Amino acid sequence: MNTRLVRVVRALGGSASSNHTETEFLMTTPRTVLVTGGNRGIGYAIAQQFAADGHRVAVTARSGSGPEGTMTVQAEMTDSASIDAAFTAVEAELGPVEVVVANAGITRDTLLMRMSEDDFTSVIDTNLGGTFRVVKRASKGMLKARFGRIILISSVVGLYGSAGQVNYAASKSGLVGFARSLTRELGARGITTNVVAPGFVETDMTAVLPEAQQQEYRRSIPLARFGSVDDITGAVSFLAGDHAGYISGAVIPVDGGLGMGH
Ligand code: NDP
Repeated sequence: MNTRLVRVVRALGGSASSNHTETEFLMTTPRTVLVTGGNRGIGYAIAQQFAADGHRVAVTARSGSGPEGTMTVQAEMTDSASIDAAFTAVEAELGPVEVVVANAGITRDTLLMRMSEDDFTSVIDTNLGGTFRVVKRASKGMLKARFGRIILISSVVGLYGSAGQVNYAASKSGLVGFARSLTRELGARGITTNVVAPGFVETDMTAVLPEAQQQEYRRSIPLARFGSVDDITGAVSFLAGDHAGYISGAVIPVDGGLGMGH
């Protein structure tokens, strides 16, 4: 029984072997999980949660490393060969990847009139192209196992839109079509593909935004606060878990009501 489950059972006043409905809900099969961009921000928190829940966890990083208890492999999202090598290393150490979280991403914000072609293509190539490369590689093992959980980290901006982010929004809305098409391709093989769309989350990515812009975002969020990385991990863990087996092609907003799915 994993440590988180034991903690929850104790909080419910039961013993670790008791048969509460709540314990059944939280019980998960230990899986091999790979999180891209797990050296900081949202990816780090997701990896930390999976590790705490008793899964075998690897993260990709270009610098630094993932949380304690996880395996770190180097990978560059724009380079298929480095992604292939990362998967091969993880498979050798932890077994075939059963859950993949495509989280690594960048922004290069500026208004369309000022946006260079490189601003546009580098964001698309990292966020959307990187997801394509990672998921394509992950799907090999998943098809063989006839099991897989693919979770793509999009953004509220993908469906809501945002001035100064046509590159980023296009890359993130692309993930929705990607997930829904993949659901139609691989759904019958026991593989689900879902999208988590965070709102404004306090990380390095958002720390660089001007204070006035941050204030404006805060005013538009119904829950009147920015998200923390821990607000995102619950939705990701749920989609990877035993109880989400019949959910695929969904977009789960975790945005304090900012976009409400739009
Ligand atoms: P951070 O900027 O804190 O972290 C980004 C991560 O992506 C880092 O691990 C970084 O690695 C990795 N990465 C970026 N480019 C590449 C690349 N070319 N190859 C390999 N790794 C790369 O971002 P967040 O944690 O805030 O965001 C994580 C995800 O969540 C992103 O996809 C983002 O778009 C999305 N998101 C974030 C929101 C927010 O408010 N923070 C809101 C909505 C969505 P390295 O450290 O080596 O650069």
